This record gives sequence, C-alpha cells and structure tokens, in this order.
Amino acid sequence: MKAYLSLGNNLGNREEMLDKAVSLVGEKAGRVLKRSSFYYSEPWGFRSKNSFVNIVILIDTHLSPTELLHATQEIEFTLGRRKKSNNGVYEDRLIDIDILTYEDMQIQTEELTLPHPLMLERDFVMIPLKEIQEK
Ligand code: AMP
Repeated sequence: MKAYLSLGNNLGNREEMLDKAVSLVGEKAGRVLKRSSFYYSEPWGFRSKNSFVNIVILIDTHLSPTELLHATQEIEFTLGRRKKSNNGVYEDRLIDIDILTYEDMQIQTEELTLPHPLMLERDFVMIPLKEIQEK
C-alpha cells in the first residue's frame, strides 16, 4: 500500500534528524520509494525563533493505517519527542511525522483522520508533495 508522509522539525540538527527519521521509517514502516528535498519555512500556527525543515516521502507499506500511525509515533518517541501538541497548540519539536494519505482511503477515527485535514493549507506539505509526484 502506498502512503505519503510529511516529516518536519525545528530544533537541533534538523536535517540529520530527518535523515534518521526516514531511515527508521524504512526499517519499521515500509520501503521508502521517493523523498523530496528539504523545504524550509517559518513556524505555522505559532511564534518561534526556530524555523522548520520539512520533507515529504512516499512509502510502500504492509501496515494498516492505524498500525502505520503507531509505527510513526514510536519513531517520534525513539527520536526523543516526548510531548504531544496540546489542545491544538503548536510548539517547537524535534520531530513530527504526519500521514498525509494512505492509498485513497478516507478515515475518521479519534486518533486518525485521512487524508490529513490540514495538508491542503500547508505549503510545507504541498510544495514537497508536488515535487515528488512529478518525479
Ligand atoms: P501532533 O502531536 O501534532 O503530531 O498530532 C498528533 C495527533 O494527531 C495524534 O494524536 C494522532 O492520533 C492525530 N492524528 C490524526 N490524524 C493524523 C494523521 N493523518 N497523521 C498523524 N497524526 C494524526
């Protein structure tokens, strides 16, 4: 099954952290078929002095959507992320992994909404996504 993921962060060695996250996704979630270049942007939805780096990847996975969510959450945890965003308040982060789409499935459960509801509004998702869709 094909899924697009968005990965981003705004703390520490940002590019190195994204490289590590992509290789963990490859080990634990599914083969990485495509990867965008780094996309740099200012924080979205909150004020911070630390700018963000984001990438989008396409993976081939045998996991179900929920299993994929849990795998990406485990990777976030492994890479040192301890806090969830609080009541929709965004904050600085070491790593954030979102599932953008999973095949053409539409899902709305308490823990997972697909396609990701905010993806269309976010340049840091749509620009790298377009880049790899055209590759
Ligand atoms: P955040 O901490 O900002 O990464 O938000 C993660 C929360 O969003 C988790 O509790 C997930 O269960 C939920 N969530 C809902 N839909 C998605 C999605 N498509 N990808 C990743 N997380 C999602």
